[in-house]
Amino acid sequence: MANYKNILIASDLGLETLDLLDKARLLATVDSKISLIHAIPPVGFTYSGISAYVPDMLRYEEIQKKIFDAKKEHVDEMVKYHKLHDVKWDIEYGKPSKVIRERAESTNCDLIILGSHGEKGLRALLGSTATGVLHDAPCDVLCVRLFGD
Ligand code: AMP
Repeated sequence: MANYKNILIASDLGLETLDLLDKARLLATVDSKISLIHAIPPVGFTYSGISAYVPDMLRYEEIQKKIFDAKKEHVDEMVKYHKLHDVKWDIEYGKPSKVIRERAESTNCDLIILGSHGEKGLRALLGSTATGVLHDAPCDVLCVRLFGD
Protein backbone atom coordinates (compact mmCIF):
# COMPACT_ATOMS: atom_id res chain seq x y z
CA MET A 1 0.00 0.00 0.00
CA ALA A 2 1.19 3.53 -0.77
CA ASN A 3 2.86 5.68 1.86
CA TYR A 4 0.35 8.42 2.38
CA LYS A 5 1.85 11.81 3.14
CA ASN A 6 -1.20 13.93 3.64
CA ILE A 7 -4.17 12.22 5.28
CA LEU A 8 -7.52 13.89 5.80
CA ILE A 9 -9.97 12.41 8.32
CA ALA A 10 -13.62 13.33 7.90
CA SER A 11 -15.25 13.33 11.31
CA ASP A 12 -18.79 13.76 12.56
CA LEU A 13 -17.10 14.24 15.97
CA GLY A 14 -18.47 10.97 17.32
CA LEU A 15 -16.29 8.59 19.33
CA GLU A 16 -15.59 6.62 16.12
CA THR A 17 -13.27 9.49 15.22
CA LEU A 18 -10.73 7.74 17.46
CA ASP A 19 -10.97 4.58 15.29
CA LEU A 20 -10.41 6.70 12.18
CA LEU A 21 -7.39 8.30 13.83
CA ASP A 22 -5.97 4.86 14.65
CA LYS A 23 -6.28 3.86 10.99
CA ALA A 24 -4.60 7.09 9.89
CA ARG A 25 -1.69 6.48 12.26
CA LEU A 26 -1.29 2.92 10.92
CA LEU A 27 -1.01 4.25 7.37
CA ALA A 28 1.10 7.30 8.19
CA THR A 29 4.89 7.50 8.14
CA VAL A 30 6.93 9.75 10.42
CA ASP A 31 6.66 12.67 8.01
CA SER A 32 3.00 12.25 7.11
CA LYS A 33 0.57 14.99 8.00
CA ILE A 34 -2.80 14.08 9.52
CA SER A 35 -5.60 16.62 9.57
CA LEU A 36 -9.25 16.40 10.41
CA ILE A 37 -12.26 18.20 9.00
CA HIS A 38 -15.75 18.49 10.44
CA ALA A 39 -18.51 20.11 8.38
CA ILE A 40 -21.53 21.88 9.81
CA PRO A 41 -24.39 21.50 7.35
CA PRO A 42 -26.43 24.66 6.78
CA VAL A 43 -29.43 24.89 9.10
CA GLY A 44 -32.41 23.76 7.08
CA PHE A 45 -30.26 21.26 5.20
CA THR A 46 -30.74 18.88 8.18
CA TYR A 47 -28.85 18.93 11.35
CA SER A 48 -28.69 15.91 13.63
CA GLY A 49 -31.93 14.69 12.13
CA ILE A 50 -33.71 18.01 12.57
CA SER A 51 -34.67 19.95 9.49
CA ALA A 52 -35.57 23.58 10.07
CA TYR A 53 -36.39 26.49 7.81
CA VAL A 54 -35.07 29.78 9.17
CA PRO A 55 -36.37 32.72 7.11
CA ASP A 56 -34.50 35.49 8.93
CA MET A 57 -30.86 35.77 7.72
CA LEU A 58 -29.55 37.37 10.91
CA ARG A 59 -31.17 34.71 13.03
CA TYR A 60 -29.80 32.07 10.67
CA GLU A 61 -26.25 33.35 11.10
CA GLU A 62 -26.70 33.54 14.85
CA ILE A 63 -27.82 29.89 14.96
CA GLN A 64 -24.94 28.78 12.73
CA LYS A 65 -22.46 30.65 14.94
CA LYS A 66 -23.89 29.01 18.09
CA ILE A 67 -23.53 25.58 16.48
CA PHE A 68 -19.96 26.42 15.45
CA ASP A 69 -19.02 27.54 18.97
CA ALA A 70 -20.51 24.39 20.52
CA LYS A 71 -18.66 22.17 18.05
CA LYS A 72 -15.41 24.03 18.64
CA GLU A 73 -15.78 23.54 22.38
CA HIS A 74 -16.45 19.83 21.81
CA VAL A 75 -13.34 19.52 19.61
CA ASP A 76 -11.17 21.31 22.19
CA GLU A 77 -12.42 18.92 24.89
CA MET A 78 -11.75 15.89 22.68
CA VAL A 79 -8.23 17.08 21.87
CA LYS A 80 -7.47 17.68 25.52
CA TYR A 81 -9.04 14.51 26.89
CA HIS A 82 -7.63 12.13 24.26
CA LYS A 83 -4.33 14.02 23.86
CA LEU A 84 -4.74 14.59 20.14
CA HIS A 85 -2.52 17.64 19.88
CA ASP A 86 -0.57 16.27 16.88
CA VAL A 87 -3.62 16.53 14.61
CA LYS A 88 -4.81 19.70 12.89
CA TRP A 89 -8.59 20.13 13.35
CA ASP A 90 -10.85 22.34 11.29
CA ILE A 91 -14.55 23.06 11.29
CA GLU A 92 -16.27 24.47 8.22
CA TYR A 93 -19.81 25.28 7.17
CA GLY A 94 -21.30 23.40 4.25
CA LYS A 95 -22.62 20.11 2.95
CA PRO A 96 -20.26 17.51 4.47
CA SER A 97 -19.39 15.55 1.30
CA LYS A 98 -18.66 18.81 -0.60
CA VAL A 99 -16.60 20.31 2.24
CA ILE A 100 -14.56 17.10 2.54
CA ARG A 101 -13.88 16.81 -1.20
CA GLU A 102 -12.95 20.49 -1.52
CA ARG A 103 -10.66 20.34 1.51
CA ALA A 104 -8.93 17.25 0.12
CA GLU A 105 -8.42 19.07 -3.18
CA SER A 106 -7.21 22.39 -1.76
CA THR A 107 -4.69 20.73 0.59
CA ASN A 108 -3.48 18.14 -1.95
CA CYS A 109 -4.36 15.35 0.36
CA ASP A 110 -3.60 11.82 -0.87
CA LEU A 111 -5.96 9.87 1.38
CA ILE A 112 -9.38 10.61 2.85
CA ILE A 113 -10.47 8.42 5.77
CA LEU A 114 -14.11 8.30 6.80
CA GLY A 115 -16.56 5.93 8.43
CA SER A 116 -19.03 3.74 6.56
CA HIS A 117 -21.87 5.58 8.26
CA GLY A 118 -22.44 8.37 10.73
CA GLU A 119 -24.54 8.55 13.86
CA LYS A 120 -27.81 8.22 11.93
CA GLY A 121 -26.64 5.53 9.54
CA LEU A 122 -27.84 1.98 9.12
CA ARG A 123 -25.20 -0.68 9.57
CA ALA A 124 -25.88 -2.32 6.23
CA LEU A 125 -25.76 0.82 4.08
CA LEU A 126 -23.22 3.46 3.17
CA GLY A 127 -24.33 6.84 4.46
CA SER A 128 -24.87 9.87 2.23
CA THR A 129 -21.59 11.56 3.21
CA ALA A 130 -19.61 8.40 2.51
CA THR A 131 -21.38 7.93 -0.82
CA GLY A 132 -20.92 11.59 -1.82
CA VAL A 133 -17.20 11.53 -1.06
CA LEU A 134 -16.58 8.18 -2.77
CA HIS A 135 -18.32 9.35 -5.93
CA ASP A 136 -16.10 12.30 -6.67
CA ALA A 137 -12.97 12.07 -4.51
CA PRO A 138 -9.73 13.60 -5.84
CA CYS A 139 -7.64 10.89 -4.13
CA ASP A 140 -7.82 7.48 -2.47
CA VAL A 141 -10.58 7.01 0.07
CA LEU A 142 -10.54 4.60 2.99
CA CYS A 143 -14.06 3.92 4.17
CA VAL A 144 -13.71 2.31 7.59
CA ARG A 145 -16.43 -0.13 8.50
CA LEU A 146 -18.03 1.05 11.71
CA PHE A 147 -20.20 -1.34 13.64
CA GLY A 148 -21.90 0.93 16.12
CA ASP A 149 -24.14 -0.52 18.83
P1 AMP B 1 -22.70 9.38 6.72
O1 AMP B 1 -22.42 9.02 5.30
O2 AMP B 1 -23.24 10.76 6.94
O3 AMP B 1 -23.53 8.34 7.45
O4 AMP B 1 -21.29 9.40 7.47
C1 AMP B 1 -20.21 8.59 7.02
C2 AMP B 1 -18.91 9.14 7.55
O5 AMP B 1 -18.71 10.44 7.00
C3 AMP B 1 -18.83 9.33 9.07
O6 AMP B 1 -18.48 8.13 9.76
C4 AMP B 1 -17.75 10.38 9.16
O7 AMP B 1 -16.47 9.78 8.98
C5 AMP B 1 -18.05 11.25 7.92
N1 AMP B 1 -18.95 12.39 8.26
C6 AMP B 1 -20.29 12.35 8.51
N2 AMP B 1 -20.76 13.57 8.80
C7 AMP B 1 -19.70 14.40 8.74
C8 AMP B 1 -19.54 15.80 8.95
N3 AMP B 1 -20.56 16.58 9.31
N4 AMP B 1 -18.30 16.33 8.79
C9 AMP B 1 -17.26 15.54 8.42
N5 AMP B 1 -17.35 14.23 8.22
C10 AMP B 1 -18.55 13.65 8.38
